[in-house]
Amino acid sequence: MVASLSYPAFAKKIAQTRMARDWGFDLPLPWKLLVEITKVCNNKCMNCSIWSSPNKQFLSLEDYKKMFMENKNLFWLSLTGGEPFTRPDIDQIAKLAVEHCPDVRLLSIPTNGFWTERIVEKTKALMNTGLECHITISLDGPQDVHNQIRGMKDGWQRAIKTFHALKDIGVSVRYQSTLHAQNMAVFKEFYKEYAKDIGVLTFTQTSDTYYENSNIKALNGEEPAEMFEWLADNFEVREKHDYFEKMHLKIAAKYLRKKEMMLPCTAGFSGAYIATDGNVYPCFSMPSWGSLREKSFKEIWYGEKANLERAKIKEKACPKCWINCFSFQDMVTYPEKAIVKAYSR
Ligand code: SF4
Ligand code: SF4
Repeated sequence: MVASLSYPAFAKKIAQTRMARDWGFDLPLPWKLLVEITKVCNNKCMNCSIWSSPNKQFLSLEDYKKMFMENKNLFWLSLTGGEPFTRPDIDQIAKLAVEHCPDVRLLSIPTNGFWTERIVEKTKALMNTGLECHITISLDGPQDVHNQIRGMKDGWQRAIKTFHALKDIGVSVRYQSTLHAQNMAVFKEFYKEYAKDIGVLTFTQTSDTYYENSNIKALNGEEPAEMFEWLADNFEVREKHDYFEKMHLKIAAKYLRKKEMMLPCTAGFSGAYIATDGNVYPCFSMPSWGSLREKSFKEIWYGEKANLERAKIKEKACPKCWINCFSFQDMVTYPEKAIVKAYSR
């Protein structure tokens, strides 16, 4: 079992990130890594083109080992896809993190829940690494709407089955629901029915690099903003981290109206996104800082390109987003600013 990280040890990581971002102190290595381990996906979603991406490159276990060996400050690992559980060595990847990153504690994985048996079997192996595992299963509406959005005739049935199977093995599992143009009309009724099991709420996002969906229209404006205000008012805090989710929803409503940077963005300071082809990015919307196929992680993280791009992020010279993959790090790094942003008029 991995011993829990003390609060002062985690607070030190946050303080180092803030001091580096705000006052130019030495930049620590990231404490959060979002690692896209595959672009293979067994769903065919309307609003995401990962499933049809021609880019099916992936890093090997040896590549991940080298990368984790350099990331001694890692606390939170998120393995994403594509559908992360299509990768049969997902548990081996997490195990490498445990072996080489002394502070890693949290593991979060989003899944479409399509392959129940595989997901349950691999989740048991992931739990055996000793990491605190949090699985979210996509559920975007009632059966017909979800299946239409996901492009699968039985995606909803399988997601529900997987949810209950994961509950049975005792892992932390919640639904993650995304507001799209296609489910807006039914979203409130759907939310009322599933609220107790929904832990994460987001809205259609666009990114050439990640979702490969810049052909679709991103949600913004009054209608989704009002929906997020309603969701924030109705979101029930059940666990400590739900306070952050509630604030996230309130800030999302403001973001959808203004499309401004909501908090000092810590992408590229607190964390990085590593794509399947080895490219390292601060987030889904900024250019690559270099590839692990050509350079080590540290060379990329402390390289000239990364430093130039970090300056742009500080100056808000970026597409400005509010995506939970990155904005949770901002809320954790600047909790007092998050409270003011969420609860001020
Ligand atoms: S949203 Fe998820 S499940 Fe849907 S195509 Fe994209 S990666 Fe696959
Ligand atoms: S696009 Fe979003 S995550 Fe990326 S730097 Fe800007 S605000 Fe941060």
